[in-house]
Amino acid sequence: MDEFEKPNLSPKEKGILKKVQSQIAYCVYCQPYDSGEPVWIFGDRTDLDDLIYNYTDSEKSIEKIKKHLYCPHCGHDDLTWDDEIGVKTDYEKKVDSLMEEVAIVHGNDLKYLKKLIDKNPLLVYKDPLAQDIFNEIEHKKFPITKIKGKFYRARKVEDSKILDSDELKCPPTGKSNEGRFNHAGQSHLYLASDKETAIREISEGHNSLLLWYQEFDVEKEINNILDLSYSFENISLSSSVLFLALTEYNDAVYKNGGNLDNWKPDYFLTRYIMDCAKYCGYNGIKYNSTKDGVGHNFVLFYPEKVKLKAIDRPQIYILMKKEDNDVFKSPFSSISWDDLKDI
Ligand SMILES: [Zn+2]
Repeated sequence: MDEFEKPNLSPKEKGILKKVQSQIAYCVYCQPYDSGEPVWIFGDRTDLDDLIYNYTDSEKSIEKIKKHLYCPHCGHDDLTWDDEIGVKTDYEKKVDSLMEEVAIVHGNDLKYLKKLIDKNPLLVYKDPLAQDIFNEIEHKKFPITKIKGKFYRARKVEDSKILDSDELKCPPTGKSNEGRFNHAGQSHLYLASDKETAIREISEGHNSLLLWYQEFDVEKEINNILDLSYSFENISLSSSVLFLALTEYNDAVYKNGGNLDNWKPDYFLTRYIMDCAKYCGYNGIKYNSTKDGVGHNFVLFYPEKVKLKAIDRPQIYILMKKEDNDVFKSPFSSISWDDLKDI
């Protein structure tokens, strides 16, 4: 047998391998080094032989098993020469079991809710998970945030009319199409956290587009915003399992691609959540942009109460998308108001 070949294991050894492997989270090569010595920061430092001795004291078996072990973090394999490995910390173990719960809620309960809501959107409250969503929103179990400062809106250029800033605000009651967080005709104010997100939100499916964009200042802080934005780094052990199930898996709150013309099932669950939040006294919702991995969007339920100040005039943008994989390399070119006046 050459040194790279992995030895055959008996059924008992295979069982031990499975148990030991499941506990290895990091190895010595995952750690940063200082003066040639590892500074152990990933995982709880553990003697590898001690870990295997819990299951067998046969030296022959231990050597064979080590040849099959690998580090799931960096990919280093064959731990024959490794004395120490890192096992998951207590915190990591707790996060793992939290995420297992999330997967169960997401896998089963949400499947039933989605089936019901697709068929009977207005009867979704019959579903137990939908009732849980209402209860958790009502009892403030989901994150809450507030907003103030610079935000952006964009709209397509539809004719030769020069728009003023008021026309870049949200359409009045009766005019809007059904959206992710508004019923058809319901006047809610959508704002994007940055210019690029605002532009991406309206440019899906277009390789080139002429559009207006406006920068606004929300002068007075608006509190009590339901925060459905999600990032893996923000998970804590106190996070609501239901919140993580709805947001961590993008196809719940951030469902995309299922709408067909006027039939918009992607928005059924989100509009239910919006109704819950509005009923429970929230002023709006913050959520991740589905068009752009980093930007955030906000929907505010009471536009008439928002002190929205336009910064300068609306500007014209010419969107020229390059290849999809090139889209982050400056896909936008702009014409400022001053340039426009000179044309
Ligand atoms: Zn490693």
